Parts: sequence; C-alpha cells; structure tokens
Amino acid sequence: MYMKKTLIVANWKMYPLDEDVAVELATKVEQGIKNVEGVEVALCPPFVYLIEIKKHLAKASLGAQNTFWEQEGAYTGEISPAMLKKLGCSYVILGHSERKNFLGETPEMINQKVRAVLAAKLIPVVCIGEKKRLKGAIRAELEWQMKGIFKDIPSSAISKIVLAYEPEWAISSQVHAQPATPQDCKETISFMRDALKGLWDETIAKNMTILYGGSVNSSNIKEFLLEGNAQGALVGFASLEAEEFIKLVGNLIK
Ligand code: PEP
Repeated sequence: MYMKKTLIVANWKMYPLDEDVAVELATKVEQGIKNVEGVEVALCPPFVYLIEIKKHLAKASLGAQNTFWEQEGAYTGEISPAMLKKLGCSYVILGHSERKNFLGETPEMINQKVRAVLAAKLIPVVCIGEKKRLKGAIRAELEWQMKGIFKDIPSSAISKIVLAYEPEWAISSQVHAQPATPQDCKETISFMRDALKGLWDETIAKNMTILYGGSVNSSNIKEFLLEGNAQGALVGFASLEAEEFIKLVGNLIK
C-alpha cells in the first residue's frame, strides 16, 4: 500500500476557555514538533481562535472542527469553507459524533459539507463510527454512513478526503470509554477499504487515508499505526496538554 505522511489531527473540541491559553498550547506544540519529520500535524481549535493561532504556526497546519455547506449567504450563525480557507485553514473535521449527537447532523448534511469543503480546496476529515460495541452490526452501520456521506461524490474528489474511524464508545468523553484494540481497528479499517471498493474502486479503496480516533494517547498511538493499520489519528483530550501531545507525535518516529 502506498504510504503518505502520518497525519495527526488535534481536535480541541470546545476548549480552552481563554485565548491566551489556546495560543500558549499552540505555541508549545509548534515548538515541540518543529523537528519531527514524516508527520503532518493539524491543530483544530475552536473557530474564535483560528486567526490568532495561525500567526503562531509554521510546521503545524490549521484546521476547523466544522463548517456549513454554502460558501456565503443568509445562514445565521454559520461559517463557510471559503471563510476558513481565507483564514489559512487546510483541514476541516466533518461529522464528528458529538455534532451528530448534540446537533442532529445526518449523513445527508455531512455529504453537503464534504462537497463544500472540497470546493473550497480544503481537506475534509470525515468521521464515521458505530455507537455501540456490537460485533457484526458495525459493518452495516459503517457502510450506511459511508454511502450517505459520499453519495454522488465523484471519484476524482474522493482521493482528497481523509476518513477517520471513530467508534463512539471509544471517545474519551463517553462514560466507560475505552480505546478500541489495535485488532478492532485493523479489522474495521480493512472492512472500510472493502466497502470503499464496492462504492468506488480498488485504487480509491487502497489509497484513502484512514485515521483512527478514540482515546488515543502517547502510550497507545504506535499500536494503532503498527498493528491497527491506521495512517494517523484524530486526537481529542490528549491534544489539549502540550507535553502529552508532543510526546504522542514524537513517539511516532521512535
Ligand atoms: C475526538 O473527539 O475526536 C476524540 C477522538 O476524542 P478523544 O481522543 O478524547 O477520545
């Protein structure tokens, strides 16, 4: 399989509360990763910190945690991919389970967002994942999510998408969360590639970048890449503490 750079996407969620804390975190991470080769790191802070944080990044890329599906217009409260592009973003996380659960985002809505993000020449990091750890039912659920999210997206655009396998039960904010095992991760990613083959073709299935997300930290990151076949990770809480996140990125090249 052809390998791209390992991708680590930091999802800061709705943290921290103060801009100076956000800038300090970004600055420390930037310093800590500046000599790391072969790993692309994208920091995705809340919208309100994007402009300030951009000023402090050189090595790390900038991303957003959401966007709307139109570029401009009468859509009160929304922020468009074109606006994010102008701010210097490269990535946009889409369809995170917290958005599905708290705001009712559906595969159809995420499909429109993927299109808009691609049109603005940003890279969508599309999350999919099952709610419960039920062997067997997982595949139908993930296939249904992928079919809806990627409906009618041309194959020429698909190669620019990053997929993140994020089982909801593994996300650290869930009660009793525990990370997937590398074996779970490997099996599901292999299934996802099979499903992508059915939806498009073998080349797309092989080349799609697939990340794992769910309670990743500096101690377990390597297992997900080496044994779990993930090409990187979407990292929530472990990205909010500079030392831990720098260690996580550094462990990838050890
Ligand atoms: C996430 O929010 O995408 C995530 C994976 O969170 P955590 O790493 O905290 O489980």
